[in-house]
Amino acid sequence: MSEESACDQVQRLLGELLDCEVEAVQARVLREHVAHCELCADRQAAEVHVRQIVRERVQQRCPSPPNLRARILVSIHRETLTRISKTGKSTRNG
Ligand SMILES: [Zn+2]
Repeated sequence: MSEESACDQVQRLLGELLDCEVEAVQARVLREHVAHCELCADRQAAEVHVRQIVRERVQQRCPSPPNLRARILVSIHRETLTRISKTGKSTRNG
């Protein structure tokens, strides 16, 4: 019999709200709350952001994401090493 605050409701139903699986009347109440509540607006923005990333990944349909990730990490690592070695040499000469 504990009353749920509007913020709790939004947090609990955020996923369903974004999927339009919440009853129209309740969805309207929750959306109105989000419009006035900074905390819930932040939560919704974060949820929307995560969903966008997931959607983009799915759309890209990478054949082997772990492989790609490893390649990106290696290239970043190499770039960093090159920078460090260059800096090292110039310091030695100067
Ligand atoms: Zn709130």
